Amino acid sequence: MAYQLDEEEQLILATVKKFLEQEVAPVAAELEHRNEYPTEIVERMKEINLFGANVPEEYGGLELSYTLFAMIFEEISRVWMGLAGILGTHTVLCDVLARFGTPEQKQRFLPLLARGEKRGAICLSEPQAGTDLQAIRTTAERRADNYFINGSKMWITNGRRGEMLLILAKTDKEATPVYTGMSAFIAEKGEPGLTISRDIDKLGYKSLETCELLFEEFRVPAENLIGGTEGAGFKQVMTGLEAERLNVAARGLGIARAAFEEAIRYAQQRRTFGKPICEHQTIQIKLAEMATKIEASRLLIYSAAEKKDQGERCDLEAGMAKLFATETAQECALEAMRILGGNGYAKDFPVERYYRDAPLLIIGGGTNELQRLIIARNLLKKYALNPV
Ligand SMILES: Cc1cc2nc3c(=O)[nH]c(=O)nc-3n(C[C@H](O)[C@H](O)[C@H](O)COP(=O)(O)OP(=O)(O)OC[C@H]3O[C@@H](n4cnc5c(N)ncnc54)[C@H](O)[C@@H]3O)c2cc1C
Repeated sequence: MAYQLDEEEQLILATVKKFLEQEVAPVAAELEHRNEYPTEIVERMKEINLFGANVPEEYGGLELSYTLFAMIFEEISRVWMGLAGILGTHTVLCDVLARFGTPEQKQRFLPLLARGEKRGAICLSEPQAGTDLQAIRTTAERRADNYFINGSKMWITNGRRGEMLLILAKTDKEATPVYTGMSAFIAEKGEPGLTISRDIDKLGYKSLETCELLFEEFRVPAENLIGGTEGAGFKQVMTGLEAERLNVAARGLGIARAAFEEAIRYAQQRRTFGKPICEHQTIQIKLAEMATKIEASRLLIYSAAEKKDQGERCDLEAGMAKLFATETAQECALEAMRILGGNGYAKDFPVERYYRDAPLLIIGGGTNELQRLIIARNLLKKYALNPV
């Protein structure tokens, strides 16, 4: 890999690791089992500027390279994937604003977001549309200097505590192709017409809320239309999701590593038939396969991040990284559970948490079925036969 962290980047990563080790690891399991929001930890995340991770420096952010950004998501998820969720949607909102916001929008919102004073949620999915985002029904109708949003959004992580919302809505229901009638808005909470209908009870990804939101004549000033042009929202959001695929892939790597580390430690301590279980060949094969897939995930992620750092599109590489690293997370969590035997199933050990958190990664950030389609589409483009 060509990318080497410079001194400042090494310091940032070391600070994050120290914070995770000293302040998060000791309490993660307890908070997660109680499904309790980590308020104090989030305050500390603000202090070490994590909410400004991908905000340009001129707006008070750290403007990290994608490589370091991915490393930070990996380290956080190695300790507690839920915490990465508090940061994840926020960074997508920051990414979309930094790329496509008008100068006035950037000036107004990015410094607040970078400080974590306001935190972001992304409102894309709806009860009847997740993968097929062009099928959303939420509308934004312009009247004088405002848009009025009507519709229902589903699965909105940070929907209750996030104060700024990235909303994807249709401004032209008749447009063809459909995506050209879709627009993205940055909305601040506080206006009437927004109801947080419920918090969804989830298998894992505990301690942070994922909600259903109802918009009824919710007012958003016209100046909050991202980029100031109607019809650009779908492309803006899709570009933001490319960076999200990298963060989700890195989360997969973090969980896979955590599961592997727990398994290899346990395998050297636990004895059966007169020897540590790591001396049984079946266990050795599991450890070898886990470690190999983890290393492959790492290489895929950092090669995709490096490409993005060079300013290139990385749909294909990010798709491959997301697919492979998150499937690896799922496999490693289950293999670690097998290696720990009964203890893998007990809440006294962290493996059951990895096992509950990993599947979200194969669904969120674009399902892995969708990643395969993206990969294949890009391959067909790359290897297109010349027309005769
Ligand atoms: C815990 C959690 C947090 C989330 N947070 C957010 C959030 O903050 N903001 C947000 O907007 N959304 C969020 N989501 C929603 C998430 O993005 C969607 O769940 C995801 O995109 C899949 O959409 P869906 O659930 O509607 O499944 P569907 O789109 O209904 O898909 C169902 C199945 O069909 C497959 N499928 C669909 N189309 C195709 C196709 N063309 N070819 C092959 N297979 C296909 C899918 O891969 C999947 O296996 C969250 C979801 C979860 C579970």
